[in-house]
Amino acid sequence: LCSLTLHLPDEAATEALARQLAPLVSGGQTGPAGACIHLQGDLGAGKTAFTRALLRECGITGRIKSPSYALLESYKVFNLYFYHLDFYRFSDSREWLDAGFRDLLRADAVVLIEWPERAEGLLPPPDLLISLAYAGDGRDATLTAYTARGQTWLNAIVP
Ligand code: ADP
Ligand code: MG
Repeated sequence: LCSLTLHLPDEAATEALARQLAPLVSGGQTGPAGACIHLQGDLGAGKTAFTRALLRECGITGRIKSPSYALLESYKVFNLYFYHLDFYRFSDSREWLDAGFRDLLRADAVVLIEWPERAEGLLPPPDLLISLAYAGDGRDATLTAYTARGQTWLNAIVP
């Protein structure tokens, strides 16, 4: 596995990282077929802030809510679907099956998942795992690639 750690001193740095990843995830040769990103980190680490910035960069213009209560928020830009999931409140695999979450992992969708560890064993490995940790007033982001596509994204990131 290949990984990269970046220090993000403020939210603008988080947004800049999202700006770099957005075109890789949603277009061209590296996306969008079934692209998936997992986001880990404590409450307030910036998983939603990063995802919101990425979705904005991908062209989503309306309100972008945290899916912490609904488990899922869906968006569509042209023919591409974006699914933002948060498994913080997820408790058992029946919930996963009943809600048909597996159907979201489709070729015409980009899937972003907060708290993927709460649904461990139910999720395939993501292209990229972004782990966010408090570091002083800012955050450290560790990006780990689990697929060849994720590796391509990592290689394209300018620290
Ligand atoms: P999570 O989804 O991980 O629980 P949120 O994204 O809801 O966290 O909240 C993150 C908070 O941290 C927001 O208040 C946001 O403004 C702030 N934040 C985001 N990125 C950074 C950063 N790089 N440095 C400092 N604060 C940040
Ligand atoms: Mg969140």
